[in-house]
Amino acid sequence: MNHIAHWIGGAEQKGTSGRVGPVYNPATGEQIAEVDLASGEEVSAAVATAKEAARAWRTASLSKRSAVLFTFRELLAAKRQELAAIVTREHGKVLADAAGEVARGLENVEFATGIPHLMKGSFSEQAATGVDVYSIRQPLGVVAGITPFNFPAMVPLWMCATAIAAGNAFVLKPSEKDPSAALWLAELWREAGLPAGVFTVVNGDKEAVDAILAHPDVAAVSFVGSTPIAKYIYETGTAQGKRVQALGGAKNHMIVLPDAELAAAADAAISAGYGAAGERCMAISVVVAVGEIAGPLVEAIAARLPQIKIGDGTDPASEMGPLISAQHRDKVTGYIESGVTQGATVIADGRNADNLPSKGYFLGATLLDNVTPDMTVYTDEIFGPVLSVVRVDTYAEAVELVNANEYGNGTAIFTRDGGAARQFQFDVNAGMVGVNVPIPVPVAYYSFGGWKASLFGDSHMYGPDGIQFFTRGKVVTSRWPDPGTSSIDLGFPQTR
Ligand code: NAD
Repeated sequence: MNHIAHWIGGAEQKGTSGRVGPVYNPATGEQIAEVDLASGEEVSAAVATAKEAARAWRTASLSKRSAVLFTFRELLAAKRQELAAIVTREHGKVLADAAGEVARGLENVEFATGIPHLMKGSFSEQAATGVDVYSIRQPLGVVAGITPFNFPAMVPLWMCATAIAAGNAFVLKPSEKDPSAALWLAELWREAGLPAGVFTVVNGDKEAVDAILAHPDVAAVSFVGSTPIAKYIYETGTAQGKRVQALGGAKNHMIVLPDAELAAAADAAISAGYGAAGERCMAISVVVAVGEIAGPLVEAIAARLPQIKIGDGTDPASEMGPLISAQHRDKVTGYIESGVTQGATVIADGRNADNLPSKGYFLGATLLDNVTPDMTVYTDEIFGPVLSVVRVDTYAEAVELVNANEYGNGTAIFTRDGGAARQFQFDVNAGMVGVNVPIPVPVAYYSFGGWKASLFGDSHMYGPDGIQFFTRGKVVTSRWPDPGTSSIDLGFPQTR
């Protein structure tokens, strides 16, 4: 069986904890690998290696760092299909979707190639007579990333591209469910000429995470995962004096106003609700139908459901793959059952879908109508191919619903009315807003992050916020006096 080790000091390193976890191919249900699960001591050793590497890496010139990023970018662009295939094998999402994930990760690398510009400070000449003041940004040292199963390539790239370009050493603890993409990225960094120890992978579970959170030499932790764990990471990490950004779960609403283009809204609901089997933090899980469009919209979505081709992600004909594990599939089917018992109208029940592959963790697309905010299918993040439709009478009710929700990651409005769309952007409590765009993931030169229970901390991920997060500011006040003018002055320094 394939064995997945750690990556420490620029090379694979077999684990010594004696603990391993299984890695499955969700499309077949077969175990395809075992992954080492690091002990606290192994994490400590990895951080020590990273600390050494960070000392040297921050002395590398901006142009040298930028050159490594450019080479990494070229290699990643050339080999992107290899990485996509790894993502499909361990995560299950279809190849085209995996390629899309890699492409969005690549954009973060491209952004980070501009590090000489991104690290520029500011300079004020003659702030006082003969005194100049300037600001610089410096790397933090060793920083860590803890990532979820659903984007095993893109989320690590969100973090590591900016962290490394800014001059830090980056320690990645990927999801133990699909860890191979992280090891593949490690090899690529080596090939790109990144010095050993600047990019580290420690595989593991809670034990490794807790060791990272407790380690005094880890200056910052960037986390993406579910809300309860995000909250735990934020509280534990900040209590240890670390800088933490912890992105959590989501319940993304798509509001459809009565004047929306019906076919486009139905297409968008299908794409954003069932793409990646609903295992996206930016998936649409609630359609809020306003007024008389509700009936025709539900019909239009229902009519499209049989067209979704479900199957092994390696088959180019497949559009929706399996869920990540048998346990997760059972959890999602449990939610469907709760929707039924709590009175939702079942338009399509994925449990009874025709033509599901006989092996693997597949589930058909489910559409529930007349969902109300007290139902569990509404309150909980399901993270599966289950779309709920909530019917409301007015725009005001729709916005109230979104704003009252615990989560505030992404949201979208579908309308032909520019004024309504602008009002929505003004009113809504969410970090990322789409106008006739169902999955408004910001491009790499903006930053990604939700509000409310979708993000703990105050810094969004990647882009300008990413640079801020992985660096700290220093302000220098400088005078080069003529020795003849020196005098003693015990008063507080003034500028005028
Ligand atoms: P998860 O919270 O179970 O795991 C995320 C990471 O935390 C993994 O590396 C895991 O090993 C670690 N972890 C798990 N349990 C832990 C514990 N008790 N103590 C310490 N560490 C622990 O999340 P997941 O199931 O891998 O990913 C899906 C979740 O991630 C969904 O809730 C989804 O919405 C969210 N997500 C959010 C975003 C975003 O940008 N907001 C992006 C992707 C995924």
